[in-house]
Amino acid sequence: MKKTIKKPSASGEKAVYSPLQPLPNPLPKGVSCLQNPIYNKGAAFTLAEREALSLQGLLPPRVYTPDEQVLRILSNFNKKPNDLERYIHMMGLQDRNETLFYKVVMDHIEEMMPIIYTPTVGRACQEYGSIFSRPRGIYISSRDRGRVKKILRNWQEKNVRMIVVTDGERILGLGDLGAQGMGIPIGKLALYTACAGIHPQVCLPITIDVGTNNETLLRDSLYTGLREPRLRGERYDELIEEFVQAVQEVFPKALIQFEDFGNQNAFRLLEKYQDKVCCFNDDIQGTAAVAAAGLFSVMGMIGSTIQKQRLLFLGAGEAGIGIAELFVEALAVEGVDREVARHQCWFMDSKGLIVRGRDNLTEQKLPFAHEHPACTDLLAAVEALKPTALIGVSGMPSSFTKPVVEAMARINKRPVIFALSNPTSKAECTASDAYTWSDGQAIFASGSPFGPVVHKGQTFVPGQGNNAYIFPGVGLGVAAVEARHVTQSMFLVAARALACQVDKNDLKQGRIYPSLKRIQEVSAHIAVAVAEEAYRLKLAAIPRPKNLPAYIASMMYKPEYPMFA
Ligand code: NAD
Repeated sequence: MKKTIKKPSASGEKAVYSPLQPLPNPLPKGVSCLQNPIYNKGAAFTLAEREALSLQGLLPPRVYTPDEQVLRILSNFNKKPNDLERYIHMMGLQDRNETLFYKVVMDHIEEMMPIIYTPTVGRACQEYGSIFSRPRGIYISSRDRGRVKKILRNWQEKNVRMIVVTDGERILGLGDLGAQGMGIPIGKLALYTACAGIHPQVCLPITIDVGTNNETLLRDSLYTGLREPRLRGERYDELIEEFVQAVQEVFPKALIQFEDFGNQNAFRLLEKYQDKVCCFNDDIQGTAAVAAAGLFSVMGMIGSTIQKQRLLFLGAGEAGIGIAELFVEALAVEGVDREVARHQCWFMDSKGLIVRGRDNLTEQKLPFAHEHPACTDLLAAVEALKPTALIGVSGMPSSFTKPVVEAMARINKRPVIFALSNPTSKAECTASDAYTWSDGQAIFASGSPFGPVVHKGQTFVPGQGNNAYIFPGVGLGVAAVEARHVTQSMFLVAARALACQVDKNDLKQGRIYPSLKRIQEVSAHIAVAVAEEAYRLKLAAIPRPKNLPAYIASMMYKPEYPMFA
């Protein structure tokens, strides 16, 4: 696992210094080197390196190979009594030896993703106050108004290219976890590296602590954030504005990913900033693209077209509205009138079916409020609307009941059932429920992973509609060509690129997403499609490389130790 610092340009052009690389820093020596996770190789430092870096005597004499180190990590990982302990084990490794952490994660992505991200990261955020051991990322609080720029400058790396920021108000389907939501930006950025090879050092997790309305956390003596109610209104907007402007000045090439904001802020912030700075909201746009990709794959499986689909969403928040908006965009590209396309999307939220004339509908829900009698029962809505696809984004576990799934299977030969709510405990139904109750007819995808299900001797592999299929590739494409904005059309091309990566073998097993084992290759394809879109829209800030796929491939980080001597 040797790394050449100056890679030859795979694009066949003059060698370029990869803009997705950290700026060079002086190499620490001795104990400082061992305590720096960026440079530390632990017992894998060679004898020559030990001499050159003043490490002699500071390490056990035996020199390990990286593969032996991986074995040791995995052996300890497997001895841990539960997933939270496995999470803590992996975070400890990330804090000690970043290269080894990414080698383990990238080589065992299917096993590691549910630990470093959903569902385990949700539990970790809930417990953050007690498992917190070493800070990672930047915290900005409502007390920091007027000095956000100064805080950002405290970060050591100056070439930050990817920021994931949360205010902790809607962590997965778990609600307001305040400052303890920090586990999410950390986890998402680890996926940027693991899934799309974005160099870990150009990634920056940020939590904006504006208080919490979670009474349990406010009473918890170990809570990591400000013990005060959430900041709202003008003062909140001013803090976010200061943050966004500070990023433009301190990290002018950074892409900002808004993550797990409550929906009263998420839609507003996206609308306010999407055409002004380089940003997107993964809960709205990333989810939309992964769900759209799932629907595109389903069309390949059942030989139909998206024009013929009628979607019923349970949940009309960021995820649901985001999916519907992108679905409308996809139909519009096919020449369908947007108004007609919107009529193919129906929503039920906590107050029932969203219909025209219902009181207090938000701006986002209004375009999807169609003429229909009021209805508060999902089964009755399914019977009345006869959807081809039922999409769960409500955070309401077990809401896709047996009668609901049976009705979907009676109405459709191949009903589409997406139970996308995270973590697993919030899924609208399990994979086993969907396959069993539909007698093997359902095409199922979930947000958190479910294992394969055997029904009447046939094995079904559920799809995981994980945003990790989309956002890392989108981020790589945007960052590689320094796109000035992130557009809705980039998410549509990303969805199509993802669906194109599903092969006949996947479809045969009922799998509507490619295997996670191929995620880096898949992300590279998505990045190329997104970068092409940036050039089409004249949003790219760098001249078009002659060979775009090779250029993007050359940007991707590999978890390989550099040779220091
Ligand atoms: P949100 O808070 O913006 O929206 C939740 C919606 O669910 C609201 O419209 C609410 O009215 C509705 N709801 C609540 N109780 C309901 C009930 N009993 N019946 C019907 N509707 C009900 O949240 P969001 O960002 O849209 O996320 C929703 C869920 O989707 C979360 O669990 C989240 O983890 C999950 N999600 C999954 C993915 C993915 O798998 N790729 C991506 C994003 C979000």
